[in-house]
Amino acid sequence: YQEKIKKASQLIKNSNYTVAFTGAGISTESGIPDFRSPGGLWQRFRIVTYQEFIYDRQAREEFWRMKKELIHHLTNAKPNNAHIALAELEKKGFIKHVITQNIDGLHQMAGSKSVIELHGNQRGAICLDCEKLYKMDEILKMLEEQLDLRCYDCGGIIKPTVVFFGEPMPEKELIMAQQIANQCDLMLVIGTSLQVEPAASIPRIAHTRGAKLIFINKAETDWDWMAEIVFYGSASQVLKDIAI
Ligand code: NAD
Ligand code: ZN
Repeated sequence: YQEKIKKASQLIKNSNYTVAFTGAGISTESGIPDFRSPGGLWQRFRIVTYQEFIYDRQAREEFWRMKKELIHHLTNAKPNNAHIALAELEKKGFIKHVITQNIDGLHQMAGSKSVIELHGNQRGAICLDCEKLYKMDEILKMLEEQLDLRCYDCGGIIKPTVVFFGEPMPEKELIMAQQIANQCDLMLVIGTSLQVEPAASIPRIAHTRGAKLIFINKAETDWDWMAEIVFYGSASQVLKDIAI
């Protein structure tokens, strides 16, 4: 383990363009369950797809009922030492961007400045017809009245500003992430099982373009073979040990 830590710190120090690519696993130590680990969200809730959300009132209500239960996990969560370590690496100039699949906003809260959110964020919701934006506080109040949320202005369907399964990724963010993946020479891939496309293609692009990868996950992934170094363990512990 110590050898790997040493090698990882050296890689970070000797690279010119290091970026981090993170998933739900970096936030489990903040008390937000991931999807696929034991006890993860998929064992308790069904995923409502974008199509269901748009066309099926029952699915919408089911979604908002779940959101009501989970939102406290999200809004009370604080960044953990892994988020903080990445923010410090950015401050010291060792990493340039964090590309994240998370919607929890914890990277920004930890002080990371350049954060690219591939799956949106849970800070608010948007009317699908007139694009009126709602803050999450407002949404929670509305949910006390009814579950099939409708826009105050036009009666349209209100959808959280997170990207749903079956919904295309925000184009601007995806293009930025792809450009970064093309240019970076080192990518720290942290807390992601890389099973969601096209997000998972980002480390693949980096690898294809000759960047080195360092993986930090609790469990194995199908893509571990791409990495120069693979850590199996807690993100906060490994990043603390790597500390430069
Ligand atoms: P995932 O659930 O598929 O995989 C999580 C990965 O993190 C696994 O490889 C697991 O071994 C690892 N892990 C768990 N705890 C860890 C820890 N303490 N330290 C290091 N590794 C740890 O997550 P994913 O690949 O990000 O895909 C899930 C999708 O769900 C993402 O698209 C994301 O947008 C969304 N999601 C986000 C949040 C959030 O914002 N916090 C939470 C749940 C799901
Ligand atoms: Zn509207």
